[in-house]
Amino acid sequence: MLDDQFSDRLLVWFSQHGRHDLPWQLERTPYRVWVSEIMLQQTQVTTVIPYFNRFIESFPDVATLAKAKRDEVLHHWTGLGYYARARNMHKAAGIIVDQYKGQLPFTVEGLMSLPGIGRSTAGAILSLACEQRKAILDGNVKRVLSRYYGVEGWPGRKDVESTLWSYAEQHTPHKCSSDYTQAIMDLGATLCTRRNPDCEHCPLNDDCFAFKTARQHDFPGSKPKVKLPHRETIFAIIENSRGEILLEQRPPAGIWGGLWCFPEFSGEQSVESSLAQQYGYTIENKIEYKSVKHTFSHFQLLIKPVHIRLKGQTNKLNDAKLSIWLKPDGDRKLGFPAPVVSILEDLNNSKRTVLNES
Ligand code: SF4
Repeated sequence: MLDDQFSDRLLVWFSQHGRHDLPWQLERTPYRVWVSEIMLQQTQVTTVIPYFNRFIESFPDVATLAKAKRDEVLHHWTGLGYYARARNMHKAAGIIVDQYKGQLPFTVEGLMSLPGIGRSTAGAILSLACEQRKAILDGNVKRVLSRYYGVEGWPGRKDVESTLWSYAEQHTPHKCSSDYTQAIMDLGATLCTRRNPDCEHCPLNDDCFAFKTARQHDFPGSKPKVKLPHRETIFAIIENSRGEILLEQRPPAGIWGGLWCFPEFSGEQSVESSLAQQYGYTIENKIEYKSVKHTFSHFQLLIKPVHIRLKGQTNKLNDAKLSIWLKPDGDRKLGFPAPVVSILEDLNNSKRTVLNES
């Protein structure tokens, strides 16, 4: 199909069936598109909408985001996962204020020089908010193009990605490029879905390789399977005599960087002796809860939660760490990893399964 036929068909389909009322489409500024694009990486639209609305209400522009405390930003991200996205946005907002007078740069190169913005996100910001003719290649677009052209191989491979980029560039029209960008993303999200593509209603079905050969599920190629390494950790849910729980802030970089977590122990030493050594605590009783599995992109973590009630009045903290005592039902304007949120909620509702009590 000629390039303009490809884009024309998508644009006609978009005018009738595309999404036109997503919150970030209503008032399209580079900042709002940036926030939505970062949230939409790895996360579905329906999940993103309430997070986006809360985020924009608290941080309506770059300057407010740059001035905010990192804890506040991470708090707004709690539950979305991939927290590096929030840390990078916060860092990038500071750079935009300091070096770009509070305006997002208007070039792909300028945007890509900011933390957390790749080529596709830069293209989306410039296309959707600034009407520039820029291609994008997010997960939805990769799926549509790899099926349409029958591009074999996992799109994470450099050669496959560069083939897809050249198709993406080639099809982006000179006119209505912002609508086209939204159209191809919408087609991937609503018709050309991963599990159940609705090819009968697709405007590209006349020429789609995957449809014509009934190979929709072969594209895009899967990531080569590697067995994720397995790690274990103990979360010590330490409770003082006032019913408060001890939380410590993790170092700024690395897994769950900057988020608040229960003190962690490796299990090589007993939790009791580690607590006595590091904090000087004496334990009144100890409850072991059922383990929780959490999967990161590069390893699986088995979390063993142990609830420790301390003897006597103690508020002593580990001086080497930033720590707080917090009621499980308290107003928590901080960022927490998902397993910590779920454990705190269960403690609040006394729902966690007890394995052992001593
Ligand atoms: S015809 Fe089917 S597989 Fe091809 S682009 Fe359309 S929805 Fe996707």
